[in-house]
Amino acid sequence: MPLPKAELHLHIEGTLEPELAFELAARNGVELPYADSDELGKAYDFQDLQSFLNLYYELMAVLRTERDFEDLANAYLARAAAQGVRHAEIFFDPQAHIARGIPMGTVVEGLWRALGSSEQNHGVSTRLILCFLRDESAESALETLEAAKPYLDRITGVGLDSAEVGHPPVKFREVYEAAASLGLRRVAHAGEEGPPEYITEALDVLGVERVDHGLRCMESPELVERLVRERIPLTLCPLSNVRLRTVDTLADHPLPAMLDAGLVCTVNSDDPAYFGGYAGDNFDAVRSALGLNEDRLRELARNSFLASFLEDDEERRARYLAEVEAYEFS
Ligand SMILES: [Zn+2]
Repeated sequence: MPLPKAELHLHIEGTLEPELAFELAARNGVELPYADSDELGKAYDFQDLQSFLNLYYELMAVLRTERDFEDLANAYLARAAAQGVRHAEIFFDPQAHIARGIPMGTVVEGLWRALGSSEQNHGVSTRLILCFLRDESAESALETLEAAKPYLDRITGVGLDSAEVGHPPVKFREVYEAAASLGLRRVAHAGEEGPPEYITEALDVLGVERVDHGLRCMESPELVERLVRERIPLTLCPLSNVRLRTVDTLADHPLPAMLDAGLVCTVNSDDPAYFGGYAGDNFDAVRSALGLNEDRLRELARNSFLASFLEDDEERRARYLAEVEAYEFS
């Protein structure tokens, strides 16, 4: 039995495996420039951020109907459950779909068809987080939030993702204020490729409660001290960092130093179909490459539930935390 954990940094579009991409392409009559899923699988072995993003956006073309989004989410939830994920807070990128003519309602309702029955079908509780693409304009983000208003009973919070450098958090001040006034929780990618100042800005200007990645906080002792003092969780994605060359090898990952510093770290999969593994694979990878002991692994699992947006269901959080404490490593 795998260690129980919550996954807090997961882009649902990044869970599209080559086999499902081909199945959906066939169902929707979309032509993919690959002979079969094996050839497409080879394209997943990309070499840098740009080739990853090209493939990522190219394959989104196969997602067209509610049923497609439902199938995508169910495939992820089944894989996550098999790796010990008990709770998942799932990002989605509506702008990438709206730009292709797929309405917000198709995306949210399709995902909800899987998420709404995930506990019964997969034993995984869920939350949905709407992400704004930071390389799109602030106006586009505001329009996206507006389009999401009929679906806010399905959406727990907002996030900020895609190309970080050159798109500081402050660009999205207005839409984050609007999201806060709607009662939405707030997270943002910061300090993955961007400087530590972006993390500070995400906290001070956007009011984020959790920082996605946040790796580069380690360049600023003052910032580390603040993140520890305020117990701001960081959602780290070790295999993603290696594939996108944020770190050279897994053995170079700062996770042990971050835990030693007292940071509230969690381990997540980011875009697992593309980055070589799901949540449990990331745990296994850091365990073997970084030699994390059982206390550290348990701490990571505990942090994931403490950092999750379960304030509306503290009984459930307590149950998950008890599972972590009772877990026996094999
Ligand atoms: Zn991410």
